[in-house]
Amino acid sequence: MIRIGDILEKVRGYNQKADLELINRAYVFSAKAHAGHVRQSGEPYLTHPLQVADILADMKMDVTTIVAGFLHDTVEDTDITREDLAASFNEEIAFLVDGLTKISQLEFKTKVQRQAENLRRMMISMAQDIRVIMVKLADRLHNMRTLQHLDPEKQAKIAQETLEIYAPLANRLGISWIQAELEDLSFQYLYPEAYRTLRQKVIQRRKEYDAYIEKVIGILTKVLNEHSINGEVTGRTKNLWSLYNKMQRQGLPFEQIYDLIAFRIIVKSIRDCYGVLGIIHSIFKPIPGRFKDYIGVPKSNRYQSLHTTVIGPIGERMEIQIRTREMHQTAEDGIASHWRYKTGDESQPDEEMKRFKWFKHILEELKEVEDPRELMETVRTDLYPDEVYVFTPKGEVKEFPLGATPIDFAYSIHTDVGNQCVGAKVNGRMVPLKYVIKNGDVLEIITSKGHKPSKDWLKIAVTSSAKSKIRAFIKKEERERSLKIGEELLDRELRRMGSTLKKMRKTEAMEKAATGFGFHKVEDLIATVGFGKYSPRQVMTRLFSEEELEKILGEQEETLTLARKSREKARREGIVVDGVEDLMVRFAHCCNPLPGDDVVGIVTRGRGISVHTVDCPNIEAARYDRDRIVDIHWDEKIKIPRTVRIRVTSEDVKGILSEITGLISSKNINITHADIRTSSDDKAINNFEVEVQDVRQLRDLLNSLSGLSGVISVERLRTR
Ligand code: MN
Repeated sequence: MIRIGDILEKVRGYNQKADLELINRAYVFSAKAHAGHVRQSGEPYLTHPLQVADILADMKMDVTTIVAGFLHDTVEDTDITREDLAASFNEEIAFLVDGLTKISQLEFKTKVQRQAENLRRMMISMAQDIRVIMVKLADRLHNMRTLQHLDPEKQAKIAQETLEIYAPLANRLGISWIQAELEDLSFQYLYPEAYRTLRQKVIQRRKEYDAYIEKVIGILTKVLNEHSINGEVTGRTKNLWSLYNKMQRQGLPFEQIYDLIAFRIIVKSIRDCYGVLGIIHSIFKPIPGRFKDYIGVPKSNRYQSLHTTVIGPIGERMEIQIRTREMHQTAEDGIASHWRYKTGDESQPDEEMKRFKWFKHILEELKEVEDPRELMETVRTDLYPDEVYVFTPKGEVKEFPLGATPIDFAYSIHTDVGNQCVGAKVNGRMVPLKYVIKNGDVLEIITSKGHKPSKDWLKIAVTSSAKSKIRAFIKKEERERSLKIGEELLDRELRRMGSTLKKMRKTEAMEKAATGFGFHKVEDLIATVGFGKYSPRQVMTRLFSEEELEKILGEQEETLTLARKSREKARREGIVVDGVEDLMVRFAHCCNPLPGDDVVGIVTRGRGISVHTVDCPNIEAARYDRDRIVDIHWDEKIKIPRTVRIRVTSEDVKGILSEITGLISSKNINITHADIRTSSDDKAINNFEVEVQDVRQLRDLLNSLSGLSGVISVERLRTR
C-alpha cells in the first residue's frame, strides 16, 4: 500500500514550494472520515483516496487538486458536509469536492442521456474548474484498477461507461497515458477473451519486439548523430485496445503488426522536428498519405507532433512521431501539463489559465440549461469547434462538420437512404432538408422509394462524401436522360435516311462513327448527341456519303440544321429543358399547357419532348415509365401568346354575348374562334378560343367573366 510519505515525496519532486502540510492534513482528515469503512476488496477505504491522490501526483497536479483527491468521497460517503470542508480547508477545496460529489451521484438511463447528461454535469463542473475532471479521472482510474473485486455485471457496466465517457474525455483533454490505461482496463473486462489472447501474443513476442525496437532506435540515433541533431528516440507498442482496434479495422493478423509499434523522436526545436522529418524521408521511403503535420495544425486538444509512416530498415512499415519536449509533455499530460504548478520564474500560470477561459464561459451558459442537447451545443462551440455530434434514433452517435444538414446525415447512413431522402425529423419534429444540425439532435430520415436527389442538394450538403454521392447520382441520371433523348434524335434523323436507330445501332458503321468522334462506345456518342454537344446531322455525315445526304436531305432545303431549328422552336415556345439543348418541344393537346402552368416533359419517340401540365391524366398513365419524364420549366423572359379554350355558360338573354366578347376585347385578348350554342334548358354555351400570355392573364379573364350578370359559370377547357 502506498504511504502518505511517498506521495509527499512525489509532489516535492515537481513542486518544491508545495504546501505539504496541507496535503498531510487532508490525508489525516480523510483517514478519520473514512475510519472503519472498507472497500469491496476488504482493504481499508483510505487506500482509495490515497491511490487517487497518488495518481494526481503522477499527473503532477497542484496541491489543491491533490487535497481534493484525498477528500473526494468524504461528502458522499461520510457525515462530512461541504461546509465542514470549507471551514477545515477552504472554499476552493470544498467546491472541488462538491463538484465530484455531484458527478458521482449521476445515474444514467438511456444511452442518449448517459452521454449527454454525463457530459453536461461534468462540463458544468469543468467550466468552473477543470481540476474536478482531473480528480474524477484519477478516481475512475483507480476504480478500474481494482475492478476485479466487483461482480461481473457491475464490471461490465463500469467498463462500458469508462470506454464511452472517461477514456474519450481523457483523450479530449489530451492526457494520453490515462486514456490508454482506461482503455486497456475496459478492454479486459468487456472482451476478456480477445484481451487475453492479444495480451498473450504480445508477451510471447516481447523479445522479438524488443530486439526490433532496439535495432531501429540504434539506426535512428545514428542517423540523428550523423546530422548533429540532438534527439531522443524511443519505441513502444501501442496499448492493447488500440492494437485490437487497428487489427479489427484493417483486418490485420497479429503477425503483421510491426507497424503497431510507434517510434518517437523528441528534439529541441520545431526546426529540428522538420529537419528530422526531412532526413527520415530521405533515408526511408515514406508511405504516401500518411504524413500528418499536427505542428502546423494542432489537434483540438492541443496535441502537436509530426506523424509519418515509412518503409523501415527491415522492409516493414514504421510509424514515427516527431515532436519537441514541450509538445511531448502536452501529448502525455494534456491540459494537466498547463495546470500544474510550475517552479521557476518563467511560469505564467495566469496566462495559462486564460487559455482555458472557455471553461468559465461554458459554465455561464450552462447554469440555465436543462436540456442535455442544448448543453451539447454549447460544449461544441468551445471544445470541439468544428464538429457536431448527433444521434441516430437508436442512440448511436455520429460526428459531422459544422453546418452539416440532414442530407449529410442521410448519406452517412447509406447511399440509398441519401438518394431516397424526402424529409427529416429532428427530435421528433419535421425539419426542412436545409436544416443545420445541432449537437445532441436526434435525427430520423424519411425515405421514399424511387425518390431522387436534386441538384440543389449540392448546395445543402456539407460533407464531401454526401456531395460526391449526389454528383454521381445526377451524373448517372443525366446520362440516362441524354441517352434517351439522343436515341430519339438519332432515330428521327435515321428514319429520314430510310433507316432506324434500331437497325443501325449494332452496325460497324455506327461503331466507326463513335470512334470517329473519339468515343469508345456507341452509347457514349448517343448520349453526347442527347446532351446537345453534337447534332444528329453531324453523326449522319459519318454514316452516309455526302451524295446520299444531299439526295435525301438536300431536297428539304434546310438551311438550319434540324437541331438548331428545334432548339429555336423550343426557345420560341418559351420552354427550357434542364441541361439539354437542341430539342424539339411540342405542347400536348390533351392538356394544352399555358405559361405559368406547372409542366413536365415526356420524351417521346420521334416527336421530341411533349409538354404536359403536371395534373394531366395522360401523365398519370405515363408514370410507370418515370425515366421518360424530364424536368422542364417556362422561360419567364419569353412572352408568347398561346391559345386556350374557355367555356362561358350564361342565361340565354339578349345582349349577353356582346357583353362577354366586349369584356374579353377590353382586356386586349384576341378571340380566335367562337362557337355559341343554346342548350336544351335555355342556357347559352359560349366556347371561345382566346390568346393569352399566361395562366395569370387567363385567371384574371375568367374571374372578370364570372362577375358579369347573367353568367352562370366559366371554365378553362383542357383539350384544344
Ligand atoms: Mn472515489
